[in-house]
Formats: sequence, structure tokens, C-alpha cells
Amino acid sequence: MKQAAQRILTDEILQNIRKHEAGTNGLKRRALRCHYCNHKEVEIFEDARGHVKAKCGKCGHEAIYNVAFCRNGAVRFKLLTL
Ligand SMILES: [Zn+2]
Repeated sequence: MKQAAQRILTDEILQNIRKHEAGTNGLKRRALRCHYCNHKEVEIFEDARGHVKAKCGKCGHEAIYNVAFCRNGAVRFKLLTL
């Protein structure tokens, strides 16, 4: 298995990490759960928009989620009739 290259954390990189973390202060967050096993995959902040692709750490399935359809920690599906 190919290993990720080690990254040296400089002061500039650490400042960027802290800046991004500070940008989430006061925002509500909710869990995005795996479509296949309901394992908590990702936390989404209330200002998140669009689609997210995530690989489940428990079952290994990859799935794409539309953040707009994910509410209250569960993914709700809308049935469409053709
Ligand atoms: Zn899963």
C-alpha cells in the first residue's frame, strides 16, 4: 500500500489550521451518516453547501451526499416516480 508523504508542519501551516478552525466558532454542526451502515462519517457545519464525497471508516463504502438533503443527522430520500 502506498503511504502518504510526510508533511512538515511549519508555523504558517499551523496558523492556517487555526484560522480555519476559528472560522467555525459558533456554527451548528450535524453528523452525516453512511448510507450503507449508518456510521457517523462526517460532521457538516451549518454553512456547508453542495455535495460531499466520503468513504466510510467502518464499512469502506464510498458515497456522494447532497448536504441540502441531510437534516437532523439522518439522510432522507425523496422517492421519485417516473
Ligand atoms: Zn458505512
